[in-house]
Amino acid sequence: MPRIDTLLSAFPRASLLGQPTPLERLGRLSEELDIDLWIKRDDLTGLSFGGNKTRQLEYYIGAARAAAADTILITGAVQSNFARTAAAAAAKYGMHAVLQREERVAGMDPLYYSSGNIFLSDILGADVMRYPDGEDEVGADAALEACAEDLRAKGRSSYIIPLGLGHPPLGALGYVQGGAELAAQIGGFDAAVVPSGSGATHGGFLTGVRLAGITAPVFGICVRRDAALQKARLEQVADALATLMGIPRPFGCDDIFTWDGALAPGYGRAGPATRTALQRMARTEGILLDPVYSAKTFAGLLGLLKEGAITKGQKILLLHTGGLPALFAYQNDLGFGGAGAL
Ligand SMILES: *Cc1c(COP(=O)(O)O)cnc(C)c1O
Repeated sequence: MPRIDTLLSAFPRASLLGQPTPLERLGRLSEELDIDLWIKRDDLTGLSFGGNKTRQLEYYIGAARAAAADTILITGAVQSNFARTAAAAAAKYGMHAVLQREERVAGMDPLYYSSGNIFLSDILGADVMRYPDGEDEVGADAALEACAEDLRAKGRSSYIIPLGLGHPPLGALGYVQGGAELAAQIGGFDAAVVPSGSGATHGGFLTGVRLAGITAPVFGICVRRDAALQKARLEQVADALATLMGIPRPFGCDDIFTWDGALAPGYGRAGPATRTALQRMARTEGILLDPVYSAKTFAGLLGLLKEGAITKGQKILLLHTGGLPALFAYQNDLGFGGAGAL
C-alpha cells in the first residue's frame, strides 16, 4: 500500500489550514468520567470560524481551481457551516460563491434565518438561492446544475460541490489527511468518536486512521439519519472514496459503527442529552460545542460510556468539528439563562 501522502498527492489541493489543528487532553472531564479523554480541535481550522468543512474544501477548492472555475455552487441547511466556509474559501481565492439554502428544519425562530452562518455568509458576500425541500439531495443538486447552466450562458464557469451520493467524495480526502494528521499526533487510542452526517468526515477519518495502522473502533454519531441508514450510507461513501483513491477499502463493513442514541428529536434540533452535553463541556473545560453536530457527538460519547461500549480507563479521542456560529442562531432554542446572580 502506498503512503497516505503519496495517495493524496494525486489530487489538487488548496491550502486552507496551513498547519495541524491542536490535540488537547481534557483533564477535568477525564477525571470526572474516569477515562483518558483527548480532543482534536478541528473547530480551530481557521478560515471564518473553522470547522471540519475547511479540510473538505481543501480538495473541492483545489479541483475548482484546476478547472479554472470562477464560481463555487453549494447546497445545505439554512445554517450550513459548509456553505459559510465555502463562501470564505471562495473569497480567499477570488471566486464568487452561490449558496443554496434548503428548508431542513421546521418551526425555527427568526434568529435561525438571520444570525449565525447567515450573518457570516452575508459579510462574506455570497449570493443566495432557496430550495423548499430539505430531504431531496438529488433535487437540490439538480437546482445547482440549473444555476450553473444559467451562469454558463452569461460566460461564467461554475464548480458544483455536490450533496448527493454518486459523485467522487473529494471532501472525504480532507479527512483521510485529517486522520493521518491525528495518527501522527496521538500514536494510538482505544476508540474515537466522530460525527456522521454526509459521511465525508466519518468515512474519510476511518479510512485515514486505518491506512495509518490504527485498528481501534471509530464510532460515528448520527446527526441526520438513524443508525441503519447511516451505516448503509457510510459503506457507499467508503467504497466511493476507496475507488477515488485507487485502493481497496481498508476495512470491512463490520468495522463501520453508527450510533443514533442522541439523534432525537432529529436533524438540526438539540434534545435534552445534546443540551446537557453542550453545557457540560462548556462548564467543565471551557470549550464551546455547537447544538447540531459537536454537542450531539459528545452526547454520543457519554451515551457509549453509559452503555459500556466505551469503558473506564480507555484512551478516547473526540473529534470537535466546529459549527460554532450556529450557537447564535440557536440562542433562543437552547435557552441558557446563565448561572444566575451570586
Ligand atoms: C457538516 C458538519 C458535520 C458533519 O460532517 P459530514 O462530513 O457531513 O458527515 C459535523 N460537524 C459540523 C460542525 C459540521 O458542520
